Amino acid sequence: MVNDDGLSEEEIAFRDSVRAFVERRIAPNATRWDLGERYPRELFGEAASLGWLGIGFPEEAGGSGGGAALFALLCAELTRGSAAIALGLYVHSALASAAILHLGSAPQKARWLPDAIAGRRIGCWGYAEAGAGADISRVRTRARRDGDDYVLDGAKLYITNSPFADFMVVVAQTAPDRGLKGMSLFVVERDTPGVRVGTPFKKLGMGASEMAEIVFDGARVPAANRLGAEHFGFIEALKVLSLGRVASAAQGVGLARAALEEALRYCATRMQGDTAITSHQFVRFTLADMATRIEAAWRLTLRAARLVDAGSDYDCAASMAKLFATETCTHVCERALHLCGAQGYMRESAAQRFYRDCKVFEIGEGTSEIQRETIFRHLAR
Ligand SMILES: Cc1cc2nc3c(=O)[nH]c(=O)nc-3n(C[C@H](O)[C@H](O)[C@H](O)COP(=O)(O)OP(=O)(O)OC[C@H]3O[C@@H](n4cnc5c(N)ncnc54)[C@H](O)[C@@H]3O)c2cc1C
Repeated sequence: MVNDDGLSEEEIAFRDSVRAFVERRIAPNATRWDLGERYPRELFGEAASLGWLGIGFPEEAGGSGGGAALFALLCAELTRGSAAIALGLYVHSALASAAILHLGSAPQKARWLPDAIAGRRIGCWGYAEAGAGADISRVRTRARRDGDDYVLDGAKLYITNSPFADFMVVVAQTAPDRGLKGMSLFVVERDTPGVRVGTPFKKLGMGASEMAEIVFDGARVPAANRLGAEHFGFIEALKVLSLGRVASAAQGVGLARAALEEALRYCATRMQGDTAITSHQFVRFTLADMATRIEAAWRLTLRAARLVDAGSDYDCAASMAKLFATETCTHVCERALHLCGAQGYMRESAAQRFYRDCKVFEIGEGTSEIQRETIFRHLAR
């Protein structure tokens, strides 16, 4: 049984349970957490006890099963409450832990996954560097083999969760000058000598999510911590970490929905004389356009998620969903702030938080330009 939203009864029940938790636990605290610029660590344990950190992980690994569609629903609902909270859980689960699931050996999974899925130990994903962003072939952090270890030197920038993460999944060059075909993946424990996490960065938005630089200065990592084949770990990860763009699209939809709801609430109650400002056609049309774009963004997102779950080629669909949903999110958050006027511009308002949070979705998980390049590659096939 599938409803008008294209969701099964089980998916609707799941979405509603996440929504209820978000409305009780996350939304009422979101502004305080944002202004406090500290991630409420206890949410990892709470999310784990609800099975959310195990979505996409098989039951034999301690997971809850499910796939991309369920994860998209989770991301959309969490982001509706707080984009920063959703981001921290997403990085831990869909990047750091998922890399271990998909590339790790049986002993590696047994070593790291139970604690990760239970929210006892938190992970981060270390790809970006000062010179490696949109161009993923430019990673310069070096991992040099030395006996039973690799020695890591370099630095990772803008790493979400790193100020408190217990383990890091790090991309490093093992064969210099071979570009993407010379990069391996390592699990690095936080307390490894030679690993230093910097002071958390001040950001435009996503206040509650914490990010910092990670410096590797002769950090000795056992060869047993390498995930996947030497030199090919990063390429393999890019192929198997299928949730990235779909989750990003879902986060864009969730934040856009929150912004629309805030604008609707304000416009329906903001009086000019005896009438609410929804009496103006401009206001009604703007809200209608926002809702229509969000609906289209969700359809693209769900379609991409369904292709992932069906094992079909999702590459172009995921890029279309990510591109459209995240640009829609930015547009909708800007319009919502506009409709909320000066009240929306105040530091305590939700509308300004949405406006500051939205932009990152167009930057992370492949910028809009990179998505357009991917879509064009499919058109030109
Ligand atoms: C809040 C936040 C959290 C983050 N968390 C993480 C994390 O946990 N782990 C991690 O590894 N990274 C993280 N990042 C970093 C993120 O991965 C990078 O920001 C992203 O890869 C883009 O790289 P860049 O910022 O260096 O942009 P740049 O590569 O400098 O790009 C700048 C601009 O140039 C454009 N551009 C670049 N190359 C091309 C091209 N070939 N064609 C067309 N346009 C191009 C881009 O689209 C962009 O608009 C985070 C960033 C933010 C803001």
